[in-house]
Amino acid sequence: MRLAGRMAQLGTETAFEVLARAKALEAEGRSIINLGIGQPDFQTPENIVEAGRKALADGHHGYTPANGIQPLREAVAADIAEHRGVEIDPASVVVVPGGKVTMFFAALMFGEEGAEILYPNPGFPIYQSAIEFSGATAVPIPLYEETGFSFSAEEVLSKITPRTRLIMLNSPANPTGGVTPKAEFDRLVEGLAAHPDVAIMSDEIYSRLLYDGQEHVSLLAYPSIRERVILLDGWSKTYAMTGWRIGYGVWPGELAEQATRLAVNSNSCVNAPTQMAAIEALTGPQESVATMRLAFDERRKIIVRGLNQIEGFRCVEPQGAFYAMPNIEGTGIGARELQDGLLEVAGVATVAGTSFGEYGEGYLRFSYAASSEQILEAMTRIREFLAQRT
Ligand code: PLP
Repeated sequence: MRLAGRMAQLGTETAFEVLARAKALEAEGRSIINLGIGQPDFQTPENIVEAGRKALADGHHGYTPANGIQPLREAVAADIAEHRGVEIDPASVVVVPGGKVTMFFAALMFGEEGAEILYPNPGFPIYQSAIEFSGATAVPIPLYEETGFSFSAEEVLSKITPRTRLIMLNSPANPTGGVTPKAEFDRLVEGLAAHPDVAIMSDEIYSRLLYDGQEHVSLLAYPSIRERVILLDGWSKTYAMTGWRIGYGVWPGELAEQATRLAVNSNSCVNAPTQMAAIEALTGPQESVATMRLAFDERRKIIVRGLNQIEGFRCVEPQGAFYAMPNIEGTGIGARELQDGLLEVAGVATVAGTSFGEYGEGYLRFSYAASSEQILEAMTRIREFLAQRT
């Protein structure tokens, strides 16, 4: 067999490998605290589950339009008007099986040999993977601990060349929990006026998970770039629906049709009951969103305090999402080695910063979507693990 050369370009999401190993260790009877995979540890709220159940019972078993059912796209438009203050046409919404799919479609739509696509590093690993798979060159936008892992507008703009087709951005961010301040977005948008052919994909999947009274800044809300912004969002994180597989893109102009064509060629549509559940998520009671956010905020404080008490660790306070990304250089152990040691010996699943790009060396990602007790226990285990090594 002879595979296409581009298969060698596909990366992966190490968090899934860590999860598989953690499950295997658990099956052997080991006690594992899972701070690896990025998914809420809450169940999907019952009203949403019930809507899915009812849809199945009512016979919604067939294909739907490839871009999603009209009432769902209308609900998305209403949600965007409420939370981002932007009026959009429901026809610009393309519902897909998870937030990830929008980034893959964007990479396929803009990427090809000779093209360049900018992406955050450390960043969600699928950005780089999808860009390289498309044949384009993935150009990293380095993110630094010193600025709370915000991107710098100046640095982003400095990376743009005549070959740049697309810029991928993410705030609040995985894996850092970093949130880019509005002033930086303003500067970026101002600078983008000089690059009218460059599109922007804004991954805002953590927009509802912000702390310390911060307000979400959406790139969709800037009129001067509106016609070239692709918004990526979904239900996975906000409504604890990672396993349902549903997300959406808001695509400018004719790109919605192109994205729909990609959907027709790959997944056809998202299953109907999940779409009905997603309508309930957006239009039903929202208390659970606030409850989960409060719980994450509490755990955030616990984990940052705990991490900063570990010798060799130093952790800036994340402002969004549910990740903390301490600098671990003081331990003298490489990120991957520490990830493996903590899982195999201490029973704590984390993900090495290097899984999120080369600028992640010296860091470890913790997902604090776990109970406070588990987080505290993990901190104890890490301290003991490090003490035993010295
Ligand atoms: N974007 C970011 C930044 C993420 O962290 C994730 C998931 O971890 C996704 C997108 C993908 O979400 P989904 O599970 O809906 O595909």
